[in-house]
Amino acid sequence: SDALLEVRHLKKYFPVTQGLLNRTVGHVKAVDDISLTLQPGETFGLVGESGSGKSTVGRTILRLTEKTSGEVKFKGADIHSLSPAELRLLRPRMQLIFQDPYSALNPRVRVGDAIGEALLDHGLCSKHEVRELVLESLAACGLSSYHIDRFPHEFSGGQRQRIGIARALILNPDLIIADEPVSALDVSIQAQIINLFSKLQQSKGLAYLFISHDLSVVEHLCSRIGVMYLGSMVETAARDELFHNPLHPYTKALLSAVPVPVPRLKRERIVLKGDIPSPANPPSGCKFHTRCPFAVEVCKAENPVFRDAGGGHFVACHLA
Ligand code: SF4
Ligand code: MG
Repeated sequence: SDALLEVRHLKKYFPVTQGLLNRTVGHVKAVDDISLTLQPGETFGLVGESGSGKSTVGRTILRLTEKTSGEVKFKGADIHSLSPAELRLLRPRMQLIFQDPYSALNPRVRVGDAIGEALLDHGLCSKHEVRELVLESLAACGLSSYHIDRFPHEFSGGQRQRIGIARALILNPDLIIADEPVSALDVSIQAQIINLFSKLQQSKGLAYLFISHDLSVVEHLCSRIGVMYLGSMVETAARDELFHNPLHPYTKALLSAVPVPVPRLKRERIVLKGDIPSPANPPSGCKFHTRCPFAVEVCKAENPVFRDAGGGHFVACHLA
C-alpha cells in the first residue's frame, strides 16, 4: 500500500526488576498491541490520559526506543530492522517535536545555529546556503531575521515552540510526531501554535501524529483520532464521527468533559471513578472495567476485540 506509516500490533514492554540481581518480576505493558495507519498528509490525533502509553508509541515508532514486538513501516521501510546507517538516512523524514522545546535547545547556541545544525549534520546543504534556509524556516513559523542570532532564553514559551517547529521543518519531513506540543503553553498561545501546525500541514502536505491528553486540542487539527487507555487503542474514527457518535464508554467520558460551545450538542457528563490503574498491574479482561459505568460480568473476564464498527470506525468494547 502507499501508506506513509503503518504500525501493526506494536508492543513495548518495560521489564520491572527487583533486588540486587535485578531479577525481572514482571512487565509494564506501556504499549500493548497498537495498530494504526497514516496516509501521506494525514493528521492523526492520539489521545489519552498521562500514563496511557501515547509518548511511548511515538518514541517506538521513531525507534528512539526498541520495540518488544510488532512492526513499524515508514515509507515501506521496516524501521526496526534498519541498520544505523539506513536509519540515519531516514531520520530527517520523520521528526519529533517535544512538549518543552527549551529542554531540547542548548542555551548557549544561537537559535539560527540550532536550527541549521541538523541540516549540516545530515549533509543536506552547504555552509553558505544554511542561513538562507534557516531564515525561510523561521519565516514559515512566524519568526524573522530579528530572531536568528538570539539565544533561547530570550524567547517566550510560544516562540520557543515556533523554534522547535522551525528546526523540525527545515529537514523537510514527511511526518512530524508532536508529543503534547502545546500542553505547557497558555491557552491563547496554544491556539496560535495549533493554527501554525494547521497552516504548515496545508502548505507542506505534512502528516502528523499529534499526541495530546486534550481532545479539544486535536479536534481542530486532526482528521482522525485514536483514543488510548492503558497501552491499548480503545477507539479510532474520523474526527466528526468520533465527536458525534462515540462508541466506547471511555471516549464518551472524555468527550463529556470537553466544553461544547453549541448548547444542542450538550452531553451528559460521565464522571469516571478513580485514577488510571498502574500499567504494571492492569485489570483483567477489558482494562477499563474498573472505571467503566457500563461494565457487565463478561468485561472482567474477556478482553474485547478491536473491531470495525463500520466506515472505518474501530472500537474495543463488548457492548458497542
Ligand atoms: Fe465498559 Fe465492558 Fe465496554 Fe470495557 S468492554 S468499555 S468494561 S462496557
Ligand atoms: Mg507523555
